[in-house]
Amino acid sequence: MKTEQILGIPVDNLTYDEVLADIPQYIEQKTKMSILSVNPQIVLDANQYPEIITLLHNSTHRIPDGIGVVMVSKLTGGAIKERVAGFDLMMEILAYADKSEHSIFLYGAHPDVLNKAVNQVESKFPNIRIAGAIDGYTKLIDEEVVDMINQAKPDFLFVALGFPKQELWLSRHINQLDVNVFQDVGGSFDVLSGQVKRAPKMFIDLHLEWLYRSLRNPSRIGRIFQLPIFLIKSLHWKVRHRHDR
Ligand code: UDP
Repeated sequence: MKTEQILGIPVDNLTYDEVLADIPQYIEQKTKMSILSVNPQIVLDANQYPEIITLLHNSTHRIPDGIGVVMVSKLTGGAIKERVAGFDLMMEILAYADKSEHSIFLYGAHPDVLNKAVNQVESKFPNIRIAGAIDGYTKLIDEEVVDMINQAKPDFLFVALGFPKQELWLSRHINQLDVNVFQDVGGSFDVLSGQVKRAPKMFIDLHLEWLYRSLRNPSRIGRIFQLPIFLIKSLHWKVRHRHDR
């Protein structure tokens, strides 16, 4: 696995299969595997959050979860070929957990969304043990959430609080958590629950899912301008750091 730098943020040249292939060894050795999504928003805003930069540097798998990340890699002679979408990877991990009868914990999203997401997991993946679930608007303090997760001892923890909450939460608590595999999954519970529809296949195939979601949701409209800004800044950064190793 080769790591590339985009605006100084590490992102790994990984495919879905490579991430999945790594899971059993982390589980057997009981070492922490942390799968973090790297997308243009995180790269552009990470400098406001030193803890998130440290979390990314210490994570085992930084997936290229955005077509902008793939484009910058391609334009600068990098090797990243395909987007690894956080939602799709979560679904593959759930399929793995189902086959291997592992347990999961879900943390995040609105209570009704979370309940529907839990129901979906139960019906689609009957061999998964759902060790627990806590919504992302809970009145519990962080330490109580950590205690509940540790009492449940899940193999996998999916954190769906959106950027930057989920990354900040993980950066503060990952070392206290008795969990094997972590993934930050943004709005994935909304999609899993059926609350939010994924973009039509045509948009996904054209790598325009981000545009569809931005147009559908007024609070995301600003993100349309994020991609060109991200591309210009990243390419400029690459030119300035072309002699770095
Ligand atoms: N969320 C949450 N607690 C919060 C803020 C957000 O659980 O305090 C959830 C929100 O309900 C949604 C997810 O985090 O399920 C964020 O989704 P969004 O699509 O904004 O995140 P992205 O995928 O863009 O990171």
